[in-house]
Amino acid sequence: MKSIADAPDIRRTEATGWPVKARWPVCPVCGAEGCGVFYRDGAGEILGCEDCVAELDAWELSEDDPEERED
Ligand SMILES: [Zn+2]
Repeated sequence: MKSIADAPDIRRTEATGWPVKARWPVCPVCGAEGCGVFYRDGAGEILGCEDCVAELDAWELSEDDPEERED
């Protein structure tokens, strides 16, 4: 008789904390599985994951040269 404590799904759940049916975090925006990071806004709304949210350099997006902003 197979011991239920040796079931791989249970061991995985114990090791990861994730239930068997949701082994990996799934992005609610793009549906990507296995995301390590979700991004959310100030209201707590999920904006996406590392796969569907891009990081931009704010300095590159700025049209004005910050050196010339003093006026
Ligand atoms: Zn995503």
